[in-house]
Amino acid sequence: MPNTFLERLNSGTVMVSDGATGTNYQKMGLGLGVPPEEWVIDEPHNVLALHRAFVEAGSDIILTCSFGGTRIRMRDSKYAERAPEINFRAAQLARQAASQRDGVLVGGSLGPTGQLCEPYGELTHDAAVSAYAEQAAALTDGGVDFLILETFFALEEAVAAIEGVKRASALPLVVSFSYDQGTRTMMGLRPSQVVAAIAPLGVAAIGANCGKSLDTMEQIVAELSAQRAGIPLWIKPNAGLPRMVGDVAEYDISPEMMAAYATRFVRAGASVVGGCCGSTPAHVAAIAQAVKAVAREDALPTLSLSETSHDLRG
Ligand SMILES: [Zn+2]
Repeated sequence: MPNTFLERLNSGTVMVSDGATGTNYQKMGLGLGVPPEEWVIDEPHNVLALHRAFVEAGSDIILTCSFGGTRIRMRDSKYAERAPEINFRAAQLARQAASQRDGVLVGGSLGPTGQLCEPYGELTHDAAVSAYAEQAAALTDGGVDFLILETFFALEEAVAAIEGVKRASALPLVVSFSYDQGTRTMMGLRPSQVVAAIAPLGVAAIGANCGKSLDTMEQIVAELSAQRAGIPLWIKPNAGLPRMVGDVAEYDISPEMMAAYATRFVRAGASVVGGCCGSTPAHVAAIAQAVKAVAREDALPTLSLSETSHDLRG
């Protein structure tokens, strides 16, 4: 059966993904230090409500509430023993919200374990592989369209995660790193190094998400595009860095500013754009409107170009 996500990616269609999960849940009452994944069991109506708000805002893709859902990352949660069930239910909730508009796709989100892999930390390659295999299997059973490893910063962990996902699921896989040191990840990796290591592993798209600022994200997009790896780009920046006002993290980048940068990312080669931390449904609505205007603009020159080349051939 053809996979709709892959078909759309490979046809060059620009897709809009959703915004933040954690920071929006905090506004909806998620307690400080509570893993968002616990809401899949405790507050499923809130999980559905945020997914639906993003679908209404114009998201073509929504991501499951399972970022911290590996068994390893969940070991301090009250639901530590229910990790596979949480991933399965998270997929079903997103699927339910996606059904309110035709064609909305669900990506199963898998984030870092929170541990460092050997030789930097104690996490073994095999333990990481099995944790991601278990999570990917549960998300796949729950009905997602594709899987996404997001906010990765270390190659060892990403490589183990890719191996685990591929062991458990045949779905397309996106791999996205966070360059939170500017144009390098926490472990010092540049976008070109990530592409060189990850592109040969058979992924549907390579991405950058979260990070530091819209300006550094623009440099990252330029570096990713320059690799000419022939792999679609997935770009989800945060709405700037948080400013703590009491217990609440405030993000200062406006929807209009996010949208202006999203059009620049699309012109620079991004196939999927959206937002990470601090991005609300209002940010996604502005991005969707701006990006669809770019797509219409681009449709006209493409038509006249193909007519020109036809004339030349004829
Ligand atoms: Zn983020």
